[in-house]
Amino acid sequence: MGSMTAVMDDIADGYTAAQLFGQGTTYTYDDVIFLPGHINFGAHEVDLNTYVTRKLKLATPVVSSPMDTVTEADMAITMAMMGGMGFLHYNMTTEGQVAQAKRVKQHVPGFVTSPAALAPQSTIADFEALKAKRDVRGACITEDGQPGSKLLGIVTSRDTDFINDRHTPLSDVMTRDVETAPESASLEHVLEQLKKSKRNLLPIVDSQGHLVRLATKAGFLEEQRAPRRAACSADGGGRLLVGAAVGTRDDDRARVDALRAADALDAVILDSSQGDSTYQLEMLAHVKRAHPDLQVVCGNVVTGRQARSLIDGGADALRVGMGSGSICTTQEVCAVGRGQAAAVYQVSRVADQCGVPTIADGGIQNSGHIAKALSLGASTVMCGSLFAGTTEAPGEYFMVDGVRVKAYRGMGSLEAMAKGSEARYHSDTQSLKVAQGVAGTVRDKGSIRTTVPFLAQAVRQGFQDMGVRSIADAHRALKQGSMRLEARSSAAQAEGNIHDMHSFRKVRW
Ligand code: 5GP
Repeated sequence: MGSMTAVMDDIADGYTAAQLFGQGTTYTYDDVIFLPGHINFGAHEVDLNTYVTRKLKLATPVVSSPMDTVTEADMAITMAMMGGMGFLHYNMTTEGQVAQAKRVKQHVPGFVTSPAALAPQSTIADFEALKAKRDVRGACITEDGQPGSKLLGIVTSRDTDFINDRHTPLSDVMTRDVETAPESASLEHVLEQLKKSKRNLLPIVDSQGHLVRLATKAGFLEEQRAPRRAACSADGGGRLLVGAAVGTRDDDRARVDALRAADALDAVILDSSQGDSTYQLEMLAHVKRAHPDLQVVCGNVVTGRQARSLIDGGADALRVGMGSGSICTTQEVCAVGRGQAAAVYQVSRVADQCGVPTIADGGIQNSGHIAKALSLGASTVMCGSLFAGTTEAPGEYFMVDGVRVKAYRGMGSLEAMAKGSEARYHSDTQSLKVAQGVAGTVRDKGSIRTTVPFLAQAVRQGFQDMGVRSIADAHRALKQGSMRLEARSSAAQAEGNIHDMHSFRKVRW
């Protein structure tokens, strides 16, 4: 037996993470590569269940970043539907953030919880503007033009296409004889009614005829046809999970109180680019006192010492990353930060000893980076640019040089700070504002309903190649040293990319 172990040791090559990251070089995802393990299971058997915080479980280890070009209600709803979770940004009023969080909590799969609505005196031109903005085909006409008030009719293009005067009020053209379903109707019943009516929209109303939500044929078809996906992320009452970011100022305490009073917050992120501060520790202590059962994500951190300080303060999860974001200029401007692979490994090593999950935040460009982050000790990854430019991201599409794009900007860009996010960079009290991020655009990436299942499947295949069956298994192998890796020279990185092709088209899925 002893000689067998010796032989095994003799043929083991590569380095353990402790050896690789203990040599004085800071590495990021592209610098490192994992060596393959032994495969004795199918990729479909790989289990990606994980924890985003001490208590919140997810079936997909991916969350969306609290940025004003990434996560509002639509993104948070769809992320939770795909087994991940969205964290709402806070570059908006407290009331606005509460309304967004409530939309997530009230979402019922297959339905539109906040249907496009207009008042009877709105015009065809208003309807067309709404269609373009929200990418919808019809609008509900309600007494005051808001969902929640009395339903008077429905307008679709069929009602407006042949009317030349675009100032015609919708009350002149809307369909008044609208079939509705009661609030108490089951999902099956609504589906049956939709099928029988052969209509595209079926408003759901309460006993007084107020519009509660909308069933759409397109929504139900999408539900049925969606690629096989993980279980929704839900709370004990079956409502979708939602998180929100806040700062560490006094008025942020009121923000947390308001989100909790609305029963619309499962986890709060205390948002700071350098989280190991007295401000954050004081805010953490306050939130834990005021809302003991609320999960609190602290950060950002990149060292074990920073991690320890926040864990000792009671953090339920740590966000890892400083200067790794695609829109971020912190390392260039402030000379502080760490290569993201090294940061994830070093922070997760310390956090793991205390049972606190880590979120690898920033720098994720592809599925390989997700597999690397999870194998280096993270329990989830947080993405900004990967999900910016998707259907679910806030903002409208526009064309630049013939390419359809959406805006994407760092929360430390001058543009975002002008809207209120400067506290994240400790610069709200400074008279000279120094940007730590840029503003720009990213390509139209379609819906995350397609992207997320494919990312998850690619990670499963990566885990299969490494010979680990789950995230917990990967973390065990990392700790025990059986997970082996190496740094890649620049030639090895070039070799790992596509090369020596005259032309090619890269289709990921
Ligand atoms: P990405 O996924 O685009 O690479 O990175 C997103 C992450 O970058 C966010 O979750 C956040 O931690 C970080 N971030 C967002 N905006 C800024 C910024 O303006 N400056 C810096 N330094 N980091 C940012």
